[in-house]
Amino acid sequence: MRKKIVAGNWKMNLDLNEGLSLFSEIQEMVQDEVNGEQQVVVCPPYIHLSNLSKLKGKNNKSLFLGAQNAHEEDSGAYTGEVSGSQLSSIGVDYVIIGHSERRAYFGETNEQLAKKIDAVFRNGLLPIYCLGEKKEEREDGSYFKVIETQIIDALFHLDTSDFSKVVLAYEPVWAIGTGLTASPEQAQEVHAYIRKTIAEHYGEDVAELITILYGGSCKPSNAAELFSQKDIDGGLIGGASLNARDFIDIVKVFNP
Ligand code: PEP
Repeated sequence: MRKKIVAGNWKMNLDLNEGLSLFSEIQEMVQDEVNGEQQVVVCPPYIHLSNLSKLKGKNNKSLFLGAQNAHEEDSGAYTGEVSGSQLSSIGVDYVIIGHSERRAYFGETNEQLAKKIDAVFRNGLLPIYCLGEKKEEREDGSYFKVIETQIIDALFHLDTSDFSKVVLAYEPVWAIGTGLTASPEQAQEVHAYIRKTIAEHYGEDVAELITILYGGSCKPSNAAELFSQKDIDGGLIGGASLNARDFIDIVKVFNP
């Protein structure tokens, strides 16, 4: 059975007190309202992670912490960066790798992301690898090729055992933070294509078990239709993850 996941990406929002308060609300709602098998992953800015890790404790089996990025090296003279080994030392579980904002504003390439993926695994963490096309690539029809390259160049060096643990997040860039959502059919088409690309390299069995999330203006009003698609296993949520009620309503699509 594929893992179902709803992950919230807080991006560069919320000061420490605001973060603690949002996380407490989410934690309480997860405990009271979520009784399905789905995983809830909260990805705050680095400054919150250590505090939230202590607040979370070890007994909540549905709630996980994720970072929004990690450096490809484990330590060294990389001013301002944070490594996978540091994240692992404070109880982080997941790391978002290759978010389109990091690709666009920080010039991250597929080749660099391949190294970050290795660093994540080396440190016992799990990657949520983001991929997706820009508006012009959707319009000129090159999006399948773009997506295939993002998968092959960053992930296909992995052995089957590591690859099986990768979570992918299809996030069309034109739908992120814009209010524009891919239709369930558009999202399903790409998710199926991602699974087919994986099957060609790692085989059908591996492809069937990979969790593929959708991200891009996902909210309580459209999550159920998106998540009901055959190849969509949950969501990576930006804006709506900053409101505990909205975020948990999206999580609860899997156990209404
Ligand atoms: C994101 O940044 O990963 C994202 C999906 O953002 P939003 O939900 O705000 O479109």
